[in-house]
Amino acid sequence: MKILVTGGAGYIGSVTVELLVETGAQVVVLDDLSLGHRAAVHPSAELAVGDLADRAAVDEVLARTRPDAVMHFAARSQVGESMREPFRYVGDNVRNGLNLIESMVEHGVRRFILSSTAALFGEPSKIPIDEQERIVPGSPYGESKHMLERILAWTEVVHGMRFAALRYFNAAGASEARGEHHDPETHLIPLVLQVALGQRERITVFGDDYPTRDGTCIRDYIHIIDLAQAHILALQALDQGSRTYNLGNGQGFSVMEVIEAARAVTGHPIAHVLGERRPGDPAALVADSSKIRAELGWSPRFPELRSIVDSAWRWHRAHPQGYAE
Ligand code: UDP
Repeated sequence: MKILVTGGAGYIGSVTVELLVETGAQVVVLDDLSLGHRAAVHPSAELAVGDLADRAAVDEVLARTRPDAVMHFAARSQVGESMREPFRYVGDNVRNGLNLIESMVEHGVRRFILSSTAALFGEPSKIPIDEQERIVPGSPYGESKHMLERILAWTEVVHGMRFAALRYFNAAGASEARGEHHDPETHLIPLVLQVALGQRERITVFGDDYPTRDGTCIRDYIHIIDLAQAHILALQALDQGSRTYNLGNGQGFSVMEVIEAARAVTGHPIAHVLGERRPGDPAALVADSSKIRAELGWSPRFPELRSIVDSAWRWHRAHPQGYAE
């Protein structure tokens, strides 16, 4: 099978490419390298450098490579930034996704896996969150992914596109060779580990007055390899119908609990200070992933927060400058 992976030079995309290559798939990565890293792309994958905003470039790649399916990771993905630049977020994510979907329809490619998000659930009525939960995006980022889910639903009705929307909770951890490197870094676990590496003095905790057990935000951290595995299962199941899954471990950890786990894993005291709430952050997001477990037999291999943080720590220690070396 030949898979086109947009954003295959990014964090989640690059680890999924690694797994796809291991399963024997032929992989073409389409990435503009604006946020991703050339060194993150598996050497067995072909890298096409191109921007999804450029419809002609997308057409060229699809016409030349003729993939059986597309996994679409390339997107702007930061909740906080989307609250400052809403038009850029909704504009880029929706326009680029639409370019890709339209081009796929024209080129007869009708299997699509979308990176969706827990940010669809800004006001969950209950925790853990299943697929029946009302969608109320908490940020323009979440809204942009909701729009793409809706566009895909209509693309199925009108053009027979099969799709899987995978709503990730908090991707974390690393494979042996690939890990998380954003510039600038904004995610909790890599920032905490930068403190342990001596690259940063302290971590700022964004708010401690949320209605949670210790007042800090609760998130469901899922190992990147488990996330990647879900893509492969979803792709295999696509011919039996389109599907949407919430993807997490089903257990939530507070910001302070993540810092504690990192202290235990690294043996470093990891100084922290209290800061303001970050706009757009819901108090708690924890997945109910029973649907993907029941339908696809997905089961996380690394559900423990400690092992997730430990894998990230091993990667960051081996690559203190990330892919910049
Ligand atoms: N967070 C924090 N300090 C930081 C970065 C993140 O307290 O420097 C919190 C953030 O408010 C959220 C959680 O850590 O509650 C996870 O944030 P991250 O940006 O890693 O992922 P997100 O939940 O936005 O996808």
